[in-house]
Amino acid sequence: MHTRRDFLQKLAAPLVALPFVLKQNEDDKMYDGPVLRVAIMGLGSYGTRVADAMQSCTKAKLVGVISGTPSKITAWQTKYNIPEKNCYNYENFDNIKDNPDIDAVYIITPNALHKEEAIRVAKAGKHVICEKPMALNAKEGQEMVSACKKANVKLLVGYRMHFEPKTLEIIRMRKDGELGKIMFFQGLTGFRAGNPDQWRLNKQLAGGGSLMDIGIYSINGARYMVGEEPVWVTAQETKTDPVKFKEGVDETILFQLGFPSGAMASCLSTYNMNNLDRFFLNAEKGFAEMQPSTGYGPIKARTNKGELTHTHVTHQTVQMDEMADIILNGKQPIVPVDGEEGLKDLKIIDAIYEAVRSGKKTKLQL
Ligand code: NAD
Repeated sequence: MHTRRDFLQKLAAPLVALPFVLKQNEDDKMYDGPVLRVAIMGLGSYGTRVADAMQSCTKAKLVGVISGTPSKITAWQTKYNIPEKNCYNYENFDNIKDNPDIDAVYIITPNALHKEEAIRVAKAGKHVICEKPMALNAKEGQEMVSACKKANVKLLVGYRMHFEPKTLEIIRMRKDGELGKIMFFQGLTGFRAGNPDQWRLNKQLAGGGSLMDIGIYSINGARYMVGEEPVWVTAQETKTDPVKFKEGVDETILFQLGFPSGAMASCLSTYNMNNLDRFFLNAEKGFAEMQPSTGYGPIKARTNKGELTHTHVTHQTVQMDEMADIILNGKQPIVPVDGEEGLKDLKIIDAIYEAVRSGKKTKLQL
């Protein structure tokens, strides 16, 4: 049955779509600066999301792929118009050093592979963009930072929330003193991990469990919401399914962070609960609340002054345009996304696992 609403929706659809298309074209026409030419390594689910989002970028362009699966390479070549000369596999991608048409490689493979891959990319003289967690621990992270420094290439971590408008507005309010002294942050991040055979539940490939994958959003979020670096951590682990979540793969971890000002954070990281994506910041003069807070969006946020109404943007499109600006033009992001930033989160992850093992407060020096 056709209703009046159906009719109005059909009528309105082209009118709604048109301004966006025009704006997109206008933006494309307006930008005639340098473009970051990117190859994606790891053509899995997140790699595909990034590739799709990059089709709307103005400053970054997907030009190459690195994959161990020839059929995926062929499919991506067709879908994204990628020339044969920009296609590599895991054995030969060091040859990328002789390819002047690729500026950066975006590593989107399982966590345990990031370190070696990043170091090889750096040695090939290309900038590295690496997914979170940047590595399995701080020692590995430090090796990556040093290798990129030595090779004189940039190392950036895929912290897409660092470019998200509502997140940035809360950070602005905090920096401008509108919230007053920050007292407390709560970060709740988790989802139910389905397939027990996935690499995320394999210690060798994931390096841990929920903390490496989703808990890192609460860790990183605590730092950019509070605006300080934590000096201590306490943590507790609970496991309801030791068959699915084997030794070294954490199912649920609660952790607390203490900051120099006296502010504290209390966070939950889990692979055993759905609909867990919430940030809450309490301060002397106000508050900020986000739910969802770190998903692909739209992010919903409100403060003591009311709901934030910033337009939703595809996180990965903005991230890649901003990263192009950082790499090509030396732009300074509001919240850092460099290797040092990734390393800080890895130091906190190390400390949380240590606190779970010891049951004691672990001191941190970031
Ligand atoms: P995925 O399993 O969908 O994709 C991983 C890809 O790596 C696959 O194409 C797989 O073939 C390839 N791969 C290469 N070597 C492999 C090996 N030895 N074992 C298994 N796979 C191998 O995983 P994903 O969800 O795309 O995650 C990839 C990375 O991206 C992870 O580090 C993850 O934390 C990160 N990620 C980030 C976000 C974000 O929002 N920033 C979201 C999802 C995933």
